[in-house]
Amino acid sequence: MRIETVEAFYLAMPEIRDIGDGSQDMALIRVRSDDGTTGWGECEASPLPTIAALVTPPSHSACHGVLDSVLGARIDQPADIAALAGVVAERGLDLLQTAHAWSGVEIALWDLLGRASGEPVWALLGHRASHARLPYASQLFGDTPEETLAKARQVAAEGYRAAKFGWGPFGRGSVAADEAHLEAARAGLGGDVALLVDAGTVWGEDVDAAAARLPALEAVGTVWLEEPFVSGALAAYAGLADRCRTVRLAAGEGAHNAQVATHLIDYGRIGYVQVDTGRIGGIGPAAAVARHGAARGVTYVNHTFTSQLALAASLVPYADVPDGALCEYPVEASPLATGLTAGRLRPGADGLIRLPDQPGLGLELDLEAVRGYLQEVEIVVNGRCLYRTPELVP
Ligand SMILES: [Mg+2]
Repeated sequence: MRIETVEAFYLAMPEIRDIGDGSQDMALIRVRSDDGTTGWGECEASPLPTIAALVTPPSHSACHGVLDSVLGARIDQPADIAALAGVVAERGLDLLQTAHAWSGVEIALWDLLGRASGEPVWALLGHRASHARLPYASQLFGDTPEETLAKARQVAAEGYRAAKFGWGPFGRGSVAADEAHLEAARAGLGGDVALLVDAGTVWGEDVDAAAARLPALEAVGTVWLEEPFVSGALAAYAGLADRCRTVRLAAGEGAHNAQVATHLIDYGRIGYVQVDTGRIGGIGPAAAVARHGAARGVTYVNHTFTSQLALAASLVPYADVPDGALCEYPVEASPLATGLTAGRLRPGADGLIRLPDQPGLGLELDLEAVRGYLQEVEIVVNGRCLYRTPELVP
């Protein structure tokens, strides 16, 4: 198949709130091949610079827009996607948004190849089976400990066996204030639900500030402390890992290539590596990180906080890990994110979620449900239109 068109759609909620909720807008990608097959992907990225990175004219030989390399390319097997990834990376070396923009295209190419060959993407990737995942309810801390308590009670009542609280006020006030949120989370979840905490890079690279919270985190049995620092702060990660007794560090969602994630494993000494396929360059590099982590005793977990399309893509890289491994499962996603797909990956009677066995990523989109969120964009340079919002029709 030859790639004939790549379309990008900028979708957004009517109001973007200044909170750590990445599901409020979306860069959705559709690829079409010359035999009429379609594939869909989502970038975990700000939509407008992502569109620009797709269509920008070249600045020089190592600074091409992504579509320069993708349009007209032949995709007949998984190795063709990996080869194209290399071309895009080389020709987009100096364009920092390349990985974010390519991620959605890469995912859409896997979906397209799966649909064309009649196979689910996890099988195309070489997995013999797709195993069930234990979803953890992923949500933000409440603004107050009372709100955190109520949120914890809610997800425990819904039957989740693991829950994560993140961002919001955590780490921004006193140690005592954080302690109150942690105690509220544990009280609301009860003793049997695993508690995960996401600091949302709040401490930059300040190891002492993070370490001051370790006694409280460990007292409530926190399984992992996620993103105490920005992704590149490898020395800070390693320094904090030295001071942890029972809690382990988790990071990787900020990785925009496999090296960033593998360096967090090798030099940051994290215990859990969390990869967003919509940011790291797609399913191929995410699977490489999963293999690297497995060989070093580091547990792979998906990162996703947006649509079910992104969720499905994020589960593929480690679908071969046996039943019961944790997966991030957004429970507070926006109506845009939840409306995007007609089908949903819901926990079954056993509380586990499973990837579909249908071709591609196995989810059909509900374009009617999200058309109202489409943003009209036009990029014109010297009278030449480089981009105009395509029609969101089947
Ligand atoms: Mg996070």
